[in-house]
Amino acid sequence: MDALTTAIAARRDDLIALTQDLIRMPTLNPPGQDYRLICEYLETRLKAAGFTTELIRAHGTPGDSDTYPRWNIVARRDGRSGGDCVHFNSHTDVVEVGNGWTKDPFGGQLADGKIYGRGACDMKGGLAASIIAAEAFIATHPDYHGAIEISGTADEESGGYGGVAYLAEQGYFDPVRVQHVIIPEPLNKDRVCLGHRGGWWAEIETFGEIAHGSMPFLGDCAVRHMGAVLTAFEETLYPAMAARTTDMPVVPEGARSSTMNINSIHGGQPEQPVDYTGLPAHCVPDSCRIVIDRRFLAEEHVDAVRGEVRDLLEGLKRDRHRFDYDLREINVVLPSMTDRNAPVVQTVAAEIERHLGKPAEFVASPGTYDQKHIDRIGKLKNCIAYGPGILELAHKPDEYVGVDDMLDSANVMAGALARILLPQA
Ligand SMILES: [Zn+2]
Repeated sequence: MDALTTAIAARRDDLIALTQDLIRMPTLNPPGQDYRLICEYLETRLKAAGFTTELIRAHGTPGDSDTYPRWNIVARRDGRSGGDCVHFNSHTDVVEVGNGWTKDPFGGQLADGKIYGRGACDMKGGLAASIIAAEAFIATHPDYHGAIEISGTADEESGGYGGVAYLAEQGYFDPVRVQHVIIPEPLNKDRVCLGHRGGWWAEIETFGEIAHGSMPFLGDCAVRHMGAVLTAFEETLYPAMAARTTDMPVVPEGARSSTMNINSIHGGQPEQPVDYTGLPAHCVPDSCRIVIDRRFLAEEHVDAVRGEVRDLLEGLKRDRHRFDYDLREINVVLPSMTDRNAPVVQTVAAEIERHLGKPAEFVASPGTYDQKHIDRIGKLKNCIAYGPGILELAHKPDEYVGVDDMLDSANVMAGALARILLPQA
């Protein structure tokens, strides 16, 4: 065992306790609670390891209020002399608990080498692994060059606007200041995630005319118009999307083409509360709305993604009697792909091979994560996701992170620090 591996192995209990502490802070988003609490915890921890820390509130970003302020922490520890800065970015928020748990979602229970809780896998285990990696590296090689940064950021689960996007706008991810970014999202300890697909979210509304339900011919049914939209999707859009291929190594396999989910559909009268005992009135619906979630590939342009939906709707407007619609864009995220030969990719891949004894797998994520903001706003291209959690457990009941997986990925992260910050390594 080399000195770094020994130093990390010696921190096993510390890593477990740190992960449990992080899980026990219920940083649920929405609403985005306890961000200040977790930032102060990280501040205390990282100051003890010699980091300088800044707590930054993303004032005025979506969801930010005095009740639920969007706090972030950026910690930096400069080495003996100048050189590259390696930045580990983790989001501190977790998604709602949901049903089906057999463990306390905020208990941090340790059983059979696994730590359970909401956010264990996505991504407090990754955050804890990166802290242990940095602390072990600093203790083993106090004379390193360059700098290490660790950030804990808000709101990744709701788009990252009060977290990484805000910090990127403030210059925290300027390539002059930071040269390598590792995001310890749960992509499995033997995989380097190069980036993610794009996303386009929109609401489509079809219109009709209200009338008595016994004489629908006197009105115009917005739900039937929406049915025509869905038929056009089935006949034209879905086959076209399925035929597209990509060079992006997206996992799982099914996400290696374009996809579109229809998140919701609603037409006619609003739904009544479950305890309402009345009967519905008889009306022809004059409005029907759907929300679509279209995920696209690096090879597709967002204007084409928008255009093919609009073309289908325009075709219906031309061909279908009384058809009219509104298309409202909700959000757009462009794809992000880091070059396979980028320094951080090669460094982490080499450390995976050295520590785990097998070549790293290169993947891309089906959904987006904060890399988009580091790429588009920060203009920093040397960025990957690499972390210990198992991707399929994210957002599920009884989410957990394996202690050995965290130790392995901490070794890879610390080894990457050694390769970048120790000239002779
Ligand atoms: Zn995550």
